[in-house]
Amino acid sequence: MSIYQRMAREVKPHWHHLSIAVVCMLVVAGTTAGLAYLMGPVVDDIFVAGVTDPERARRMIVILPIALVAVMWIKGGATYSQTVLMVMVGQRIVADLRERIYAHLQELPLSFYDNTQTGLLIARMTNDVNLLRESVSSALAASFRDIFTIVGLIALVFYRDWRLAIIAMVVFPLAMVPFIKFGQLVRRISTRNQQATAEMANHMSETISGARVVKAFTAEKHEISKFKAVSQRILRLQLKEERVRALSSPTMESLGAVAFAVILGYGGHRVLTGAASAGTFVSFIAAVIMLYDPLKKLARTWTIVQRGVAGAERIYELLDTPAMVKDRPGATELTGFRESIQYRGVRFSYGREPVLKGIDLTIEAGRIVALAGSSGGGKTTLVNLLPRFYDLEEGEILIDGTDIRDLTQSSLRRMIGLVTQQTILFDDTIKANIAYGRPGATEEEIITASKAAYAHDFITELPHGYETHIGEQGVRLSGGQRQRLAIARALLKDAPILILDEATSSLDTESEYYVQKAIDNLMKGRTTLVIAHRLSTIYNAHRIVVLSGGRIVQEGRHEELLGQEGEYRKLYEMQFKSDN
Ligand code: ADP
Ligand code: MG
Repeated sequence: MSIYQRMAREVKPHWHHLSIAVVCMLVVAGTTAGLAYLMGPVVDDIFVAGVTDPERARRMIVILPIALVAVMWIKGGATYSQTVLMVMVGQRIVADLRERIYAHLQELPLSFYDNTQTGLLIARMTNDVNLLRESVSSALAASFRDIFTIVGLIALVFYRDWRLAIIAMVVFPLAMVPFIKFGQLVRRISTRNQQATAEMANHMSETISGARVVKAFTAEKHEISKFKAVSQRILRLQLKEERVRALSSPTMESLGAVAFAVILGYGGHRVLTGAASAGTFVSFIAAVIMLYDPLKKLARTWTIVQRGVAGAERIYELLDTPAMVKDRPGATELTGFRESIQYRGVRFSYGREPVLKGIDLTIEAGRIVALAGSSGGGKTTLVNLLPRFYDLEEGEILIDGTDIRDLTQSSLRRMIGLVTQQTILFDDTIKANIAYGRPGATEEEIITASKAAYAHDFITELPHGYETHIGEQGVRLSGGQRQRLAIARALLKDAPILILDEATSSLDTESEYYVQKAIDNLMKGRTTLVIAHRLSTIYNAHRIVVLSGGRIVQEGRHEELLGQEGEYRKLYEMQFKSDN
Protein backbone atom coordinates (compact mmCIF):
# COMPACT_ATOMS: atom_id res chain seq x y z
CA MET A 1 0.00 0.00 0.00
CA SER A 2 1.37 3.41 -0.88
CA ILE A 3 1.85 6.15 1.69
CA TYR A 4 -0.94 8.19 0.08
CA GLN A 5 -3.35 5.29 0.33
CA ARG A 6 -2.53 4.86 3.99
CA MET A 7 -3.00 8.54 4.64
CA ALA A 8 -6.31 8.36 2.81
CA ARG A 9 -7.31 5.55 5.13
CA GLU A 10 -6.87 7.87 8.12
CA VAL A 11 -9.37 10.22 6.54
CA LYS A 12 -11.93 7.60 5.56
CA PRO A 13 -13.76 7.27 8.90
CA HIS A 14 -14.56 10.98 8.68
CA TRP A 15 -16.24 10.75 5.29
CA HIS A 16 -19.55 12.21 6.47
CA HIS A 17 -17.93 15.42 7.72
CA LEU A 18 -15.77 15.45 4.65
CA SER A 19 -18.67 15.16 2.24
CA ILE A 20 -20.45 18.10 3.85
CA ALA A 21 -17.17 20.01 3.65
CA VAL A 22 -16.82 19.11 -0.03
CA VAL A 23 -20.33 20.44 -0.71
CA CYS A 24 -19.33 23.68 1.04
CA MET A 25 -16.20 23.80 -1.10
CA LEU A 26 -18.28 23.41 -4.24
CA VAL A 27 -20.35 26.34 -3.06
CA VAL A 28 -17.18 28.38 -2.44
CA ALA A 29 -15.92 27.50 -5.90
CA GLY A 30 -19.26 28.25 -7.54
CA THR A 31 -19.64 31.60 -5.83
CA THR A 32 -16.07 32.58 -6.69
CA ALA A 33 -16.72 31.86 -10.36
CA GLY A 34 -20.07 33.64 -9.92
CA LEU A 35 -18.31 36.80 -8.80
CA ALA A 36 -16.08 36.74 -11.86
CA TYR A 37 -19.16 36.07 -14.02
CA LEU A 38 -20.96 39.09 -12.59
CA MET A 39 -18.16 41.35 -13.81
CA GLY A 40 -19.52 40.78 -17.34
CA PRO A 41 -23.03 42.21 -16.68
CA VAL A 42 -21.50 44.95 -14.50
CA VAL A 43 -19.55 46.25 -17.51
CA ASP A 44 -22.05 45.48 -20.28
CA ASP A 45 -25.37 46.19 -18.48
CA ILE A 46 -24.36 49.17 -16.37
CA PHE A 47 -21.48 51.00 -18.06
CA VAL A 48 -21.99 50.13 -21.72
CA ALA A 49 -25.80 50.06 -21.46
CA GLY A 50 -25.70 53.36 -19.58
CA VAL A 51 -25.08 54.93 -22.99
CA THR A 52 -27.21 52.72 -25.24
CA ASP A 53 -30.11 51.62 -22.97
CA PRO A 54 -30.40 53.83 -19.82
CA GLU A 55 -33.63 52.09 -18.70
CA ARG A 56 -31.89 48.72 -18.39
CA ALA A 57 -28.85 50.29 -16.73
CA ARG A 58 -31.06 51.86 -14.02
CA ARG A 59 -32.65 48.47 -13.29
CA MET A 60 -29.32 46.68 -13.21
CA ILE A 61 -27.73 49.25 -10.92
CA VAL A 62 -30.08 47.92 -8.20
CA ILE A 63 -30.10 44.22 -9.08
CA LEU A 64 -26.38 43.68 -9.58
CA PRO A 65 -25.15 45.13 -6.25
CA ILE A 66 -27.73 43.00 -4.42
CA ALA A 67 -26.61 39.94 -6.39
CA LEU A 68 -22.97 40.71 -5.52
CA VAL A 69 -23.70 40.96 -1.78
CA ALA A 70 -25.78 37.77 -1.84
CA VAL A 71 -23.03 35.81 -3.61
CA MET A 72 -20.44 37.13 -1.17
CA TRP A 73 -22.52 36.16 1.86
CA ILE A 74 -23.11 32.65 0.58
CA LYS A 75 -19.41 32.33 -0.11
CA GLY A 76 -18.60 33.52 3.44
CA GLY A 77 -20.94 31.03 5.07
CA ALA A 78 -19.64 28.15 3.00
CA THR A 79 -16.02 29.10 3.69
CA TYR A 80 -16.66 29.16 7.43
CA SER A 81 -18.46 25.80 7.52
CA GLN A 82 -15.84 24.19 5.36
CA THR A 83 -12.96 25.45 7.54
CA VAL A 84 -14.57 24.33 10.80
CA LEU A 85 -15.44 20.90 9.41
CA MET A 86 -11.94 20.32 8.13
CA VAL A 87 -10.31 21.44 11.37
CA MET A 88 -12.57 19.00 13.18
CA VAL A 89 -11.54 16.16 10.91
CA GLY A 90 -7.86 17.08 11.26
CA GLN A 91 -7.90 17.27 15.03
CA ARG A 92 -9.76 13.96 15.31
CA ILE A 93 -7.16 12.32 13.11
CA VAL A 94 -4.42 13.69 15.38
CA ALA A 95 -6.12 12.44 18.53
CA ASP A 96 -6.73 9.04 16.97
CA LEU A 97 -3.14 8.73 15.75
CA ARG A 98 -1.49 9.72 19.00
CA GLU A 99 -3.73 7.33 20.89
CA ARG A 100 -2.85 4.57 18.45
CA ILE A 101 0.86 5.32 18.70
CA TYR A 102 0.73 5.31 22.50
CA ALA A 103 -1.22 2.06 22.59
CA HIS A 104 1.26 0.57 20.16
CA LEU A 105 4.19 1.70 22.29
CA GLN A 106 2.66 -0.15 25.23
CA GLU A 107 2.55 -3.31 23.12
CA LEU A 108 6.14 -3.14 21.96
CA PRO A 109 8.61 -5.50 23.57
CA LEU A 110 11.18 -4.22 26.07
CA SER A 111 13.90 -4.92 23.53
CA PHE A 112 12.44 -2.06 21.45
CA TYR A 113 12.95 0.36 24.34
CA ASP A 114 16.50 -0.90 24.87
CA ASN A 115 17.32 0.40 21.39
CA THR A 116 15.17 3.52 21.05
CA GLN A 117 15.71 7.04 22.28
CA THR A 118 12.91 8.72 24.18
CA GLY A 119 13.32 12.00 22.31
CA LEU A 120 12.71 10.22 19.06
CA LEU A 121 9.40 8.80 20.27
CA ILE A 122 8.28 12.15 21.63
CA ALA A 123 9.05 13.76 18.28
CA ARG A 124 6.86 11.15 16.58
CA MET A 125 3.98 11.80 18.96
CA THR A 126 4.07 15.57 18.67
CA ASN A 127 5.87 16.89 15.60
CA ASP A 128 5.15 14.20 13.09
CA VAL A 129 1.53 13.79 14.08
CA ASN A 130 1.07 17.53 13.63
CA LEU A 131 2.75 17.52 10.25
CA LEU A 132 0.39 14.78 9.18
CA ARG A 133 -2.59 16.73 10.50
CA GLU A 134 -1.56 19.85 8.65
CA SER A 135 -1.20 17.88 5.53
CA VAL A 136 -4.48 15.99 5.73
CA SER A 137 -6.75 18.64 7.14
CA SER A 138 -5.64 22.07 6.08
CA ALA A 139 -4.05 20.82 2.91
CA LEU A 140 -6.88 18.50 1.96
CA ALA A 141 -9.39 21.24 2.64
CA ALA A 142 -7.43 23.85 0.77
CA SER A 143 -6.67 21.65 -2.18
CA PHE A 144 -10.26 20.52 -2.66
CA ARG A 145 -11.52 24.07 -2.39
CA ASP A 146 -8.78 25.43 -4.60
CA ILE A 147 -9.13 22.73 -7.24
CA PHE A 148 -12.90 23.23 -7.41
CA THR A 149 -12.41 26.97 -7.62
CA ILE A 150 -9.82 26.56 -10.36
CA VAL A 151 -12.15 24.26 -12.32
CA GLY A 152 -15.04 26.72 -11.89
CA LEU A 153 -12.96 29.68 -13.00
CA ILE A 154 -11.47 27.80 -15.95
CA ALA A 155 -14.97 26.78 -17.05
CA LEU A 156 -15.99 30.42 -16.92
CA VAL A 157 -12.89 31.46 -18.83
CA PHE A 158 -13.78 29.01 -21.63
CA TYR A 159 -17.38 30.09 -21.59
CA ARG A 160 -16.39 33.72 -21.93
CA ASP A 161 -13.87 33.37 -24.77
CA TRP A 162 -12.54 29.95 -25.73
CA ARG A 163 -9.82 31.26 -28.10
CA LEU A 164 -8.37 33.43 -25.40
CA ALA A 165 -8.78 30.56 -22.92
CA ILE A 166 -6.70 28.18 -25.05
CA ILE A 167 -3.88 30.69 -25.14
CA ALA A 168 -4.15 31.12 -21.37
CA MET A 169 -4.03 27.34 -20.89
CA VAL A 170 -0.78 27.17 -22.81
CA VAL A 171 1.04 29.98 -21.04
CA PHE A 172 -0.15 29.53 -17.45
CA PRO A 173 1.06 25.97 -16.75
CA LEU A 174 4.57 27.37 -17.17
CA ALA A 175 4.05 29.14 -13.89
CA MET A 176 3.24 25.82 -12.23
CA VAL A 177 6.47 23.98 -12.94
CA PRO A 178 8.48 25.44 -10.05
CA PHE A 179 6.08 24.36 -7.36
CA ILE A 180 6.54 20.66 -8.06
CA LYS A 181 10.31 21.06 -7.85
CA PHE A 182 10.06 23.13 -4.68
CA GLY A 183 7.78 20.55 -3.08
CA GLN A 184 10.29 17.76 -3.50
CA LEU A 185 13.07 19.91 -2.12
CA VAL A 186 11.05 20.90 0.95
CA ARG A 187 10.27 17.27 1.69
CA ARG A 188 13.93 16.32 1.66
CA ILE A 189 14.95 19.20 3.91
CA SER A 190 12.07 18.52 6.26
CA THR A 191 13.16 14.92 6.82
CA ARG A 192 16.65 16.03 7.81
CA ASN A 193 15.20 18.74 10.00
CA GLN A 194 13.06 16.19 11.80
CA GLN A 195 16.01 13.95 12.52
CA ALA A 196 17.95 16.84 13.98
CA THR A 197 14.96 17.92 16.10
CA ALA A 198 14.63 14.42 17.54
CA GLU A 199 18.34 14.41 18.29
CA MET A 200 17.99 17.71 20.11
CA ALA A 201 14.98 16.54 22.13
CA ASN A 202 16.89 13.46 23.14
CA HIS A 203 19.98 15.35 24.14
CA MET A 204 17.80 17.64 26.24
CA SER A 205 15.95 14.89 28.04
CA GLU A 206 19.18 13.05 28.78
CA THR A 207 21.07 16.01 30.12
CA ILE A 208 18.12 17.39 32.08
CA SER A 209 17.31 14.12 33.80
CA GLY A 210 21.04 13.58 34.19
CA ALA A 211 21.75 17.15 35.37
CA ARG A 212 23.49 15.80 38.46
CA VAL A 213 25.95 13.80 36.43
CA VAL A 214 26.61 16.68 34.06
CA LYS A 215 27.45 18.93 37.00
CA ALA A 216 29.47 16.30 38.81
CA PHE A 217 31.70 15.86 35.80
CA THR A 218 31.70 19.61 35.06
CA ALA A 219 30.58 18.71 31.58
CA GLU A 220 28.32 21.76 31.19
CA LYS A 221 30.51 23.38 28.55
CA HIS A 222 30.75 20.16 26.61
CA GLU A 223 26.98 19.66 26.70
CA ILE A 224 26.36 23.28 25.73
CA SER A 225 28.59 23.02 22.70
CA LYS A 226 27.02 19.71 21.73
CA PHE A 227 23.59 21.23 22.03
CA LYS A 228 24.64 24.30 20.13
CA ALA A 229 25.87 22.19 17.24
CA VAL A 230 22.51 20.46 16.82
CA SER A 231 20.61 23.67 17.37
CA GLN A 232 22.63 25.42 14.68
CA ARG A 233 22.06 22.54 12.31
CA ILE A 234 18.31 22.83 12.88
CA LEU A 235 18.55 26.57 12.34
CA ARG A 236 20.32 26.11 9.03
CA LEU A 237 17.84 23.51 7.83
CA GLN A 238 14.89 25.60 8.92
CA LEU A 239 16.21 28.67 7.15
CA LYS A 240 16.85 26.63 4.07
CA GLU A 241 13.33 25.25 4.13
CA GLU A 242 11.85 28.72 4.60
CA ARG A 243 14.02 30.09 1.81
CA VAL A 244 12.79 27.47 -0.60
CA ARG A 245 9.22 28.08 0.45
CA ALA A 246 9.60 31.82 0.24
CA LEU A 247 11.04 31.50 -3.23
CA SER A 248 8.14 29.44 -4.44
CA SER A 249 5.48 32.16 -4.76
CA PRO A 250 7.69 34.98 -6.19
CA THR A 251 8.90 32.55 -8.84
CA MET A 252 5.34 31.70 -9.75
CA GLU A 253 4.37 35.34 -9.73
CA SER A 254 7.17 36.37 -12.05
CA LEU A 255 6.28 33.65 -14.53
CA GLY A 256 2.59 34.42 -14.05
CA ALA A 257 3.17 38.07 -14.98
CA VAL A 258 4.59 37.02 -18.34
CA ALA A 259 1.58 34.81 -19.00
CA PHE A 260 -0.77 37.59 -17.94
CA ALA A 261 0.90 40.12 -20.28
CA VAL A 262 0.37 37.80 -23.26
CA ILE A 263 -3.35 37.46 -22.46
CA LEU A 264 -3.83 41.16 -21.88
CA GLY A 265 -2.29 41.93 -25.26
CA TYR A 266 -4.30 39.39 -27.24
CA GLY A 267 -7.56 40.00 -25.33
CA GLY A 268 -7.29 43.78 -25.80
CA HIS A 269 -6.78 43.20 -29.50
CA ARG A 270 -10.00 41.12 -29.69
CA VAL A 271 -12.10 43.80 -27.96
CA LEU A 272 -10.70 46.49 -30.26
CA THR A 273 -11.52 44.44 -33.35
CA GLY A 274 -15.04 43.82 -32.00
CA ALA A 275 -14.59 40.05 -31.67
CA ALA A 276 -15.51 40.24 -27.93
CA SER A 277 -17.48 42.66 -25.76
CA ALA A 278 -15.79 44.80 -23.12
CA GLY A 279 -17.80 42.97 -20.43
CA THR A 280 -16.69 39.57 -21.69
CA PHE A 281 -13.07 40.66 -21.57
CA VAL A 282 -13.32 42.21 -18.07
CA SER A 283 -15.06 39.09 -16.79
CA PHE A 284 -12.37 36.97 -18.43
CA ILE A 285 -9.58 39.00 -16.87
CA ALA A 286 -11.35 38.92 -13.46
CA ALA A 287 -11.49 35.12 -13.64
CA VAL A 288 -7.82 34.92 -14.61
CA ILE A 289 -6.84 37.25 -11.75
CA MET A 290 -8.98 35.24 -9.36
CA LEU A 291 -7.29 32.07 -10.58
CA TYR A 292 -3.99 33.31 -9.24
CA ASP A 293 -4.99 33.00 -5.57
CA PRO A 294 -6.12 29.33 -5.57
CA LEU A 295 -3.15 28.39 -7.76
CA LYS A 296 -0.73 30.00 -5.31
CA LYS A 297 -2.47 28.33 -2.39
CA LEU A 298 -2.32 25.02 -4.16
CA ALA A 299 1.44 25.44 -4.55
CA ARG A 300 1.81 26.12 -0.84
CA THR A 301 -0.42 23.17 -0.05
CA TRP A 302 1.83 20.94 -2.08
CA THR A 303 4.83 21.70 0.14
CA ILE A 304 2.71 21.13 3.26
CA VAL A 305 1.57 17.79 1.86
CA GLN A 306 5.18 16.81 1.19
CA ARG A 307 6.13 17.57 4.80
CA GLY A 308 3.11 15.61 5.98
CA VAL A 309 4.09 12.64 3.86
CA ALA A 310 7.56 12.67 5.41
CA GLY A 311 5.93 12.74 8.87
CA ALA A 312 3.51 9.99 7.95
CA GLU A 313 6.34 7.77 6.76
CA ARG A 314 8.02 8.05 10.15
CA ILE A 315 4.76 7.44 12.02
CA TYR A 316 3.96 4.35 9.98
CA GLU A 317 7.45 3.02 10.44
CA LEU A 318 6.82 3.14 14.19
CA LEU A 319 3.31 1.70 13.92
CA ASP A 320 4.70 -1.09 11.73
CA THR A 321 7.27 -2.16 14.31
CA PRO A 322 5.98 -5.59 15.22
CA ALA A 323 4.23 -5.62 18.56
CA MET A 324 5.02 -8.31 21.07
CA VAL A 325 3.12 -11.47 20.30
CA LYS A 326 0.70 -11.29 23.16
CA ASP A 327 -0.58 -14.74 23.92
CA ARG A 328 -0.50 -18.01 22.11
CA PRO A 329 -3.85 -19.18 20.83
CA GLY A 330 -5.34 -21.31 23.57
CA ALA A 331 -3.13 -19.80 26.27
CA THR A 332 -4.49 -20.57 29.71
CA GLU A 333 -4.88 -18.45 32.81
CA LEU A 334 -2.48 -19.05 35.65
CA THR A 335 -4.75 -19.03 38.66
CA GLY A 336 -2.31 -19.78 41.45
CA PHE A 337 1.13 -21.09 42.25
CA ARG A 338 1.49 -24.31 44.18
CA GLU A 339 4.51 -26.43 43.34
CA SER A 340 7.56 -25.13 41.54
CA ILE A 341 9.26 -22.93 38.99
CA GLN A 342 11.58 -24.81 36.66
CA TYR A 343 14.17 -23.42 34.27
CA ARG A 344 15.17 -26.11 31.77
CA GLY A 345 18.08 -25.62 29.42
CA VAL A 346 17.42 -21.91 29.17
CA ARG A 347 19.51 -20.01 26.65
CA PHE A 348 19.17 -16.34 25.94
CA SER A 349 20.98 -13.48 24.23
CA TYR A 350 20.17 -9.81 23.71
CA GLY A 351 22.20 -9.65 20.58
CA ARG A 352 24.84 -12.00 19.31
CA GLU A 353 26.67 -12.91 22.51
CA PRO A 354 24.77 -15.46 24.61
CA VAL A 355 24.04 -14.13 28.11
CA LEU A 356 22.57 -17.34 29.51
CA LYS A 357 24.01 -20.60 28.24
CA GLY A 358 21.88 -23.45 29.47
CA ILE A 359 20.35 -22.78 32.87
CA ASP A 360 18.70 -25.61 34.80
CA LEU A 361 17.14 -24.48 38.02
CA THR A 362 14.21 -25.57 40.14
CA ILE A 363 12.62 -23.36 42.75
CA GLU A 364 10.14 -25.05 45.04
CA ALA A 365 7.13 -23.12 46.25
CA GLY A 366 7.70 -21.28 49.52
CA ARG A 367 11.48 -21.24 49.15
CA ILE A 368 13.91 -18.38 49.01
CA VAL A 369 16.54 -18.82 46.32
CA ALA A 370 19.36 -16.31 46.19
CA LEU A 371 21.28 -15.55 43.03
CA ALA A 372 24.87 -14.51 43.49
CA GLY A 373 27.63 -13.78 41.04
CA SER A 374 29.74 -10.97 39.75
CA SER A 375 28.20 -8.08 37.89
CA GLY A 376 27.20 -8.85 34.30
CA GLY A 377 26.86 -12.55 35.06
CA GLY A 378 23.26 -12.63 33.90
CA LYS A 379 21.35 -12.54 37.21
CA THR A 380 18.95 -9.78 36.19
CA THR A 381 18.46 -11.40 32.82
CA LEU A 382 17.61 -14.71 34.43
CA VAL A 383 14.88 -13.26 36.64
CA ASN A 384 13.52 -11.03 33.86
CA LEU A 385 12.74 -14.09 31.78
CA LEU A 386 10.20 -15.28 34.33
CA PRO A 387 7.61 -12.49 33.75
CA ARG A 388 8.46 -12.81 30.03
CA PHE A 389 10.00 -9.37 29.72
CA TYR A 390 12.06 -11.13 27.08
CA ASP A 391 11.37 -14.45 25.40
CA LEU A 392 13.78 -17.36 25.55
CA GLU A 393 15.74 -18.56 22.61
CA GLU A 394 16.01 -22.15 23.72
CA GLY A 395 14.76 -24.23 26.58
CA GLU A 396 11.71 -23.60 28.69
CA ILE A 397 10.50 -22.18 31.94
CA LEU A 398 7.69 -24.05 33.65
CA ILE A 399 5.39 -22.92 36.42
CA ASP A 400 3.66 -25.86 38.07
CA GLY A 401 4.56 -27.86 34.98
CA THR A 402 3.13 -25.42 32.41
CA ASP A 403 5.39 -23.62 29.95
CA ILE A 404 5.06 -19.89 30.66
CA ARG A 405 4.53 -19.32 26.93
CA ASP A 406 1.30 -21.31 27.24
CA LEU A 407 -0.02 -18.91 29.87
CA THR A 408 -1.61 -15.55 29.27
CA GLN A 409 0.90 -12.81 29.97
CA SER A 410 -1.45 -10.90 32.21
CA SER A 411 -2.20 -13.87 34.44
CA LEU A 412 1.51 -14.75 34.59
CA ARG A 413 2.51 -11.23 35.57
CA ARG A 414 -0.22 -11.01 38.18
CA MET A 415 1.52 -13.88 40.00
CA ILE A 416 4.85 -12.05 40.18
CA GLY A 417 5.84 -9.16 42.43
CA LEU A 418 8.94 -7.24 41.48
CA VAL A 419 11.15 -4.88 43.46
CA THR A 420 14.28 -3.65 41.76
CA GLN A 421 17.16 -1.38 42.58
CA GLN A 422 15.56 1.47 40.69
CA THR A 423 12.13 2.53 41.88
CA ILE A 424 9.88 4.14 39.34
CA LEU A 425 7.27 6.37 40.90
CA PHE A 426 4.71 8.08 38.71
CA ASP A 427 3.64 11.70 38.87
CA ASP A 428 0.58 11.01 41.02
CA THR A 429 -0.39 10.75 44.68
CA ILE A 430 1.42 8.45 47.10
CA LYS A 431 -1.81 6.49 47.38
CA ALA A 432 -2.15 5.99 43.63
CA ASN A 433 1.50 4.97 43.39
CA ILE A 434 1.06 2.28 46.01
CA ALA A 435 -2.18 1.05 44.47
CA TYR A 436 -0.59 0.99 41.01
CA GLY A 437 -0.72 -2.79 40.70
CA ARG A 438 -4.23 -3.01 42.16
CA PRO A 439 -6.33 0.02 41.26
CA GLY A 440 -9.34 -1.16 43.26
CA ALA A 441 -7.53 -1.33 46.59
CA THR A 442 -9.30 0.19 49.60
CA GLU A 443 -7.80 2.88 51.83
CA GLU A 444 -7.44 0.31 54.59
CA GLU A 445 -5.55 -2.16 52.42
CA ILE A 446 -3.20 0.60 51.28
CA ILE A 447 -2.48 1.61 54.89
CA THR A 448 -1.95 -2.00 55.97
CA ALA A 449 0.53 -2.53 53.13
CA SER A 450 2.31 0.72 53.95
CA LYS A 451 2.63 -0.24 57.60
CA ALA A 452 4.13 -3.61 56.70
CA ALA A 453 6.49 -1.80 54.35
CA TYR A 454 7.59 0.60 57.13
CA ALA A 455 6.30 3.44 55.00
CA HIS A 456 3.22 4.53 56.97
CA ASP A 457 5.11 6.77 59.40
CA PHE A 458 6.93 8.85 56.85
CA ILE A 459 3.86 9.06 54.61
CA THR A 460 1.71 10.53 57.40
CA GLU A 461 4.39 13.15 58.01
CA LEU A 462 4.14 14.40 54.41
CA PRO A 463 2.10 17.63 53.87
CA HIS A 464 -1.00 15.82 52.61
CA GLY A 465 -0.31 12.31 53.86
CA TYR A 466 -1.41 9.66 51.39
CA GLU A 467 -2.82 12.31 49.10
CA THR A 468 0.57 13.99 48.67
CA HIS A 469 1.59 14.35 45.04
CA ILE A 470 4.98 12.83 44.32
CA GLY A 471 6.01 15.70 42.06
CA GLU A 472 4.81 18.33 44.56
CA GLN A 473 7.07 21.16 45.70
CA GLY A 474 9.03 20.24 48.77
CA VAL A 475 8.31 16.53 48.51
CA ARG A 476 11.68 14.92 48.32
CA LEU A 477 11.68 11.23 49.02
CA SER A 478 14.91 9.52 49.95
CA GLY A 479 16.04 6.38 48.15
CA GLY A 480 14.97 4.27 51.13
CA GLN A 481 11.53 5.88 51.25
CA ARG A 482 10.99 5.35 47.55
CA GLN A 483 12.04 1.76 47.97
CA ARG A 484 9.58 1.24 50.81
CA LEU A 485 6.81 2.62 48.61
CA ALA A 486 7.80 0.06 45.99
CA ILE A 487 7.63 -2.65 48.62
CA ALA A 488 4.18 -1.44 49.77
CA ARG A 489 3.15 -1.61 46.13
CA ALA A 490 4.36 -5.21 45.90
CA LEU A 491 2.72 -6.10 49.21
CA LEU A 492 -0.59 -4.77 47.98
CA LYS A 493 -0.28 -6.70 44.74
CA ASP A 494 0.16 -9.77 46.95
CA ALA A 495 1.62 -12.03 44.27
CA PRO A 496 2.80 -15.48 45.35
CA ILE A 497 6.12 -15.19 43.50
CA LEU A 498 8.53 -12.42 44.38
CA ILE A 499 11.57 -11.14 42.54
CA LEU A 500 13.98 -8.89 44.41
CA ASP A 501 16.72 -7.51 42.19
CA GLU A 502 19.29 -5.73 44.36
CA ALA A 503 16.45 -3.96 46.12
CA THR A 504 18.74 -2.60 48.84
CA SER A 505 21.98 -2.08 47.02
CA SER A 506 21.77 1.65 46.45
CA LEU A 507 20.82 2.52 50.02
CA ASP A 508 22.77 3.76 53.01
CA THR A 509 22.92 1.61 56.12
CA GLU A 510 20.12 3.30 58.01
CA SER A 511 17.51 3.25 55.27
CA GLU A 512 18.68 -0.21 54.36
CA TYR A 513 17.72 -1.33 57.87
CA TYR A 514 14.08 -0.37 57.38
CA VAL A 515 13.96 -1.53 53.79
CA GLN A 516 15.33 -4.88 54.88
CA LYS A 517 12.65 -5.21 57.57
CA ALA A 518 10.03 -4.28 54.98
CA ILE A 519 11.44 -6.88 52.62
CA ASP A 520 11.31 -9.52 55.38
CA ASN A 521 7.60 -8.78 55.71
CA LEU A 522 7.18 -8.94 51.97
CA MET A 523 8.92 -12.32 51.65
CA LYS A 524 6.66 -13.98 54.23
CA GLY A 525 4.65 -16.75 52.67
CA ARG A 526 6.04 -16.15 49.18
CA THR A 527 8.41 -17.91 46.84
CA THR A 528 11.31 -15.57 46.41
CA LEU A 529 14.06 -15.18 43.86
CA VAL A 530 16.46 -12.69 45.36
CA ILE A 531 19.52 -11.06 43.90
CA ALA A 532 21.32 -9.52 46.85
CA HIS A 533 24.56 -7.93 47.68
CA ARG A 534 23.96 -8.30 51.40
CA LEU A 535 25.09 -11.28 53.30
CA SER A 536 22.08 -11.44 55.65
CA THR A 537 19.67 -12.03 52.76
CA ILE A 538 21.94 -14.75 51.49
CA TYR A 539 22.17 -16.40 54.91
CA ASN A 540 18.44 -16.68 55.06
CA ALA A 541 18.08 -18.18 51.61
CA HIS A 542 17.26 -21.86 51.38
CA ARG A 543 19.63 -22.14 48.50
CA ILE A 544 22.26 -20.00 46.85
CA VAL A 545 22.84 -20.24 43.12
CA VAL A 546 26.08 -18.79 41.79
CA LEU A 547 26.01 -17.54 38.22
CA SER A 548 29.10 -16.92 36.20
CA GLY A 549 29.49 -16.39 32.47
CA GLY A 550 25.89 -17.35 31.82
CA ARG A 551 26.08 -20.67 33.65
CA ILE A 552 25.28 -21.93 37.13
CA VAL A 553 28.66 -22.77 38.60
CA GLN A 554 27.77 -23.52 42.20
CA GLU A 555 24.67 -24.30 44.23
CA GLY A 556 24.08 -24.87 47.93
CA ARG A 557 23.81 -23.22 51.32
CA HIS A 558 26.18 -20.53 52.52
CA GLU A 559 28.39 -22.74 54.74
CA GLU A 560 28.56 -25.44 52.09
CA LEU A 561 29.64 -23.07 49.38
CA LEU A 562 32.11 -21.33 51.63
CA GLY A 563 33.72 -24.69 52.28
CA GLN A 564 34.37 -25.19 48.57
CA GLU A 565 37.10 -23.77 46.47
CA GLY A 566 35.35 -21.57 43.87
CA GLU A 567 33.48 -18.52 42.70
CA TYR A 568 31.39 -18.11 45.84
CA ARG A 569 34.37 -17.90 48.18
CA LYS A 570 36.01 -15.31 45.95
CA LEU A 571 32.79 -13.33 45.90
CA TYR A 572 32.48 -13.64 49.65
CA GLU A 573 35.95 -12.37 50.21
CA MET A 574 35.54 -9.48 47.86
CA GLN A 575 32.03 -8.35 48.59
CA PHE A 576 30.16 -9.87 51.50
CA LYS A 577 32.85 -10.08 54.15
CA SER A 578 32.87 -6.33 54.74
CA ASP A 579 29.23 -6.64 55.92
CA ASN A 580 30.10 -8.25 59.22
P1 ADP B 1 23.75 -9.00 36.28
O1 ADP B 1 22.36 -8.67 36.70
O2 ADP B 1 24.22 -10.30 36.76
O3 ADP B 1 24.70 -7.91 36.58
P2 ADP B 1 22.66 -8.75 33.62
O4 ADP B 1 21.67 -9.83 33.46
O5 ADP B 1 22.15 -7.39 33.90
O6 ADP B 1 23.74 -9.17 34.69
O7 ADP B 1 23.52 -8.66 32.29
C1 ADP B 1 24.10 -9.78 31.68
C2 ADP B 1 24.72 -9.37 30.35
O8 ADP B 1 23.72 -8.96 29.45
C3 ADP B 1 25.68 -8.20 30.46
O9 ADP B 1 26.77 -8.48 29.62
C4 ADP B 1 24.90 -7.02 29.95
O10 ADP B 1 25.75 -6.13 29.31
C5 ADP B 1 23.95 -7.66 28.97
N1 ADP B 1 22.66 -6.94 28.96
C6 ADP B 1 21.85 -6.73 30.02
N2 ADP B 1 20.72 -6.08 29.67
C7 ADP B 1 20.80 -5.88 28.35
C8 ADP B 1 19.95 -5.27 27.37
N3 ADP B 1 18.76 -4.74 27.71
N4 ADP B 1 20.36 -5.23 26.09
C9 ADP B 1 21.55 -5.76 25.73
N5 ADP B 1 22.40 -6.34 26.59
C10 ADP B 1 22.04 -6.42 27.88
MG1 MG C 1 21.58 -6.99 37.67
